[in-house]
Formats: sequence, C-alpha cells, structure tokens
Amino acid sequence: MLLPQVRAERFTKSSKYYHYSEISPRALGGVLASTRDSKHAALIETLALQKVWEQSPAKTRFKFQKVLEGRLLLRLYPDDISATIVRRISKHFPSISRFATPEALKSLQVFLCDLPTCVSQQVLRTLVNAWLTTSRMHDSFCNRCVFGCPSPDALEHYVLCPVLWRVIGRVFGSSPSDSLEVVLLLASPNLVSAFRLYAAVTIFHACRASHLARLRTFTENNEGEALEKFLIEIARGVRSKVSSLKGAPFDMS
Ligand SMILES: [Zn+2]
Repeated sequence: MLLPQVRAERFTKSSKYYHYSEISPRALGGVLASTRDSKHAALIETLALQKVWEQSPAKTRFKFQKVLEGRLLLRLYPDDISATIVRRISKHFPSISRFATPEALKSLQVFLCDLPTCVSQQVLRTLVNAWLTTSRMHDSFCNRCVFGCPSPDALEHYVLCPVLWRVIGRVFGSSPSDSLEVVLLLASPNLVSAFRLYAAVTIFHACRASHLARLRTFTENNEGEALEKFLIEIARGVRSKVSSLKGAPFDMS
C-alpha cells in the first residue's frame, strides 16, 4: 500500500526538479516498515559501504540516505526489465505475448549475458519498443516506413518490414521461416537471430539519422532497386562491424 505512495512522489514531480532525496522520510519510512527483510539487508549493505567509504581517502560526505534508498529500490523492483518487456510485448505484439513467460525471459537473460553488450542492448531496446520511431515519439518527423513501404514509422512494422529484412537476408543470410517470436528472441534464442536483430536496429537508426532525405528521393522516384542497393551497402558496413564482435556467427567471406 505504501509503495504507490513512493511511486507517486517519484513520478508526480517534473523530472527537471526530481531528485531521489526528495522522497519524503514518511514514505521511505513506510517502505522500511513494510519490507522488513529488505530493510535489514539494505541497511547492512549501506553500513558496510559507509565503513569502506570512511576508510577511503575520499573527502566528500557519505550520502547515507541516498545509498540506502538505492539499495532498497533494488530490492523492491528487482527485475524491472522483465516486467517492462511483458507489458510492451502485450501492447505492441499481442499475438506473441504468450511467449513472454518468466521462463522464456530468464532463458533470454542468460543468453543475452553471453553476447557483446552492444548486441544485447539492441535486443532489449527492441523488446521494450525503444526504437526512435515516430509512433513512439508521438511526433511528425517521419510519417511512414523509412525504407519506403506504405506503412507507419513504427516498430510493429519494422520487425516485419519486407525491405529491411530482405536486405538483412541478402547480407546476413536468409531465414525465411523465422516467426516473430524467433525474430524477437522470445523463442529459441540463437546467435543468428540476435545478430540479425542487432543489424536491423543499427541499419534503421543509421538511415533515420543520416539518410532519410536520400531514401525519400528513391521512394518518390519509384527507384526500389536503387534503394535496396543503397541499403545493402549500409548493411555490409554493419556486417563488417558485426564480424569483429565476440560470438558473431558471420564471417567475412
Ligand atoms: Zn517497411
């Protein structure tokens, strides 16, 4: 009952003025009372950190309340990302939400921990709908697929975009039988799917940031072939980068 009170205090303030220390002692006290075990563990950790701090040559003051609060929040919201993935998958990809089970997410977590950080970050970025799309940003920067399809500039389209995935298939190897849950690594997570998804995110953001005008010109002039050739060049650059990453299933031949 008290957690919403803390959440309310955190999120009703403008982020410009928000600071962790602004959570009132009353709300923090409520959390302490309602989470006896977490409180003890967090207190012990904070006291230990304070001891180490005091023995170090650091001259700054040890911010006891802030450190304690951080330790408590870690326990109160131990796996924020899984809950966010489940929510976002249900919202954006309801047809595969049954695959976002605790077991699947645990297995995905173990799998992602073995990948280069840049790859696992982009996989997570996809699962939580964090691509820089017009649909997500609620702006009018781009009103359709950057690769020329008559579809919205939205993640729901890009994970299936025929142009993008045809290019990825040509440069990274084709996987025509991949279903959406495999593309998003919610089922049978594997290196090829992970690196292909990394390529999709990278190509999309490179195009949106630096090549939008050129891609629009191709589309307006119905130069589909030239557009695809241009995308293949970008994809080859990504492949060259990917090939040097640990665990990459692609070689440069
Ligand atoms: Zn498209």
